[in-house]
Amino acid sequence: MHELSIVSSIVDSVTETLAAYRGAKVREVRLRVGALASVVEDSLQFCYGIASEGTRLEGSKLVVKILPVRMHCEKCAQDVEIASLQSFRCPRCSEPVAEMRQGRELEIDSIEIDEIEEKV
Ligand SMILES: [Zn+2]
Repeated sequence: MHELSIVSSIVDSVTETLAAYRGAKVREVRLRVGALASVVEDSLQFCYGIASEGTRLEGSKLVVKILPVRMHCEKCAQDVEIASLQSFRCPRCSEPVAEMRQGRELEIDSIEIDEIEEKV
């Protein structure tokens, strides 16, 4: 499954980040996913449960933020948001737009961890 490999690499990367914080437990992992990243959120959530099992991420929540597609319109000389993925046309002037500025992201936005309890 496509999503499982994505989620596995996210779990790996969070685990690596946490290596410096002993005793920290992950509460929430937030992702930024472009509308054209071709992943299904339900699958991400499902795979997250599997991939996080037995890791320090187990039991944490995956929050997926979908980013709208933004293209650059030369005629308007600005970035515009594409409402429909069926036609890549500028919503202002209807010119076709080809230069994508946002929409294929798939990255970790932030990680929320519980307070580190290191009792001496
Ligand atoms: Zn335009």
